[in-house]
Amino acid sequence: MEKMTTNKLLSGEEIYEIALRPKKFEEFVGQIKIIENLKVFIQAAKQRKEPLEHILLFGPPGLGKTTLAHIITREMDVSIYPTSGPILERPFDIAGILSNLKRADVLFIDEVHRINKTVEEYLYPALENFCLDVMQDKGMGARALRLRLNHFTLIGATTRSGLLTAPLRSRFGISFRLDYYPTHDLCDIIRRSAKILEIAIDEKATTEIASRARGTPRIANRLLRRVRDFAQVKGKGNIDLEICNYALEKLEVDKRGFDEMDKKIIRTIIEKFQGGPVGINSLAVAVGEDAQTIEEVFEPFLIMEGFIKRTPRGREATTLAYEHFKFKKDHGTLFKT
Ligand code: ADP
Repeated sequence: MEKMTTNKLLSGEEIYEIALRPKKFEEFVGQIKIIENLKVFIQAAKQRKEPLEHILLFGPPGLGKTTLAHIITREMDVSIYPTSGPILERPFDIAGILSNLKRADVLFIDEVHRINKTVEEYLYPALENFCLDVMQDKGMGARALRLRLNHFTLIGATTRSGLLTAPLRSRFGISFRLDYYPTHDLCDIIRRSAKILEIAIDEKATTEIASRARGTPRIANRLLRRVRDFAQVKGKGNIDLEICNYALEKLEVDKRGFDEMDKKIIRTIIEKFQGGPVGINSLAVAVGEDAQTIEEVFEPFLIMEGFIKRTPRGREATTLAYEHFKFKKDHGTLFKT
């Protein structure tokens, strides 16, 4: 069961996300190794009648971290209290939530790398010894009172694991990295979502949307809904390859699902660094993005798609990248084809 920790209004996108969010492991597509391990940890904890250890889920946005946190909670048959790093500004904000948690309940902190430092330090004893020091009164008469908490589980999600402090990271007993999804997994996700939303879509259109979804379930679901709008207004209602291609062109969705930063990274390696190898820091300066974000968010997708290669001397653009962006290199000189 989800308990409210904020009074936030949900956006249209969030309402759809909740409707399409898998509720059980059986509905969660892909990430097989993570699921297998999680099932073992959950079964073991349940057999011992113990709460789960704290879990860190990291990986780029839209890959299913929040979804997994909810599934884990359901499997453990407990309640989840969702919150987010940036809104936890003062120890007071977290103390209220923590003292409400029952044994084995889940505290889910999205963007856990963005917790304010004071709050983070305040969390350490809660995570380790399940106690909190709260100040009673102010000024001269102030004294600390030790509050015992129930043994809860923190599930932290982050797109930027590199920004987590070492002490916080070390408090997670279990940690998983979610990877971008291959096209066949995204096809399964689109089929499932189309069924829930009662959208008629054929196989070719399913594959087309999947291959342009940047390896990301959230993008696949969003594209499906946008293509449905075109099918409804411009077509016959059902989604076939023709209306799908028409819609994706109107939406300016790249054939390979690349976003602006993906394109900038590849083009910069080819045009400014002669195809590489180029060190991550020089590349970061050239594209105006932080080096760690490139490493954690953009690069894994470009490597999976075979557009850039990591070598000991830096990043290199592959032949596929030259072809996609219509470049050719002849005797060291770059041509546009
Ligand atoms: P994150 O927390 O990593 O940003 P979410 O868990 O919010 O991502 O996932 C975004 C949306 O993508 C969810 O609403 C869900 O519908 C869908 N989704 C994510 N992962 C999967 C999956 N493995 N199988 C099916 N749908 C998924």
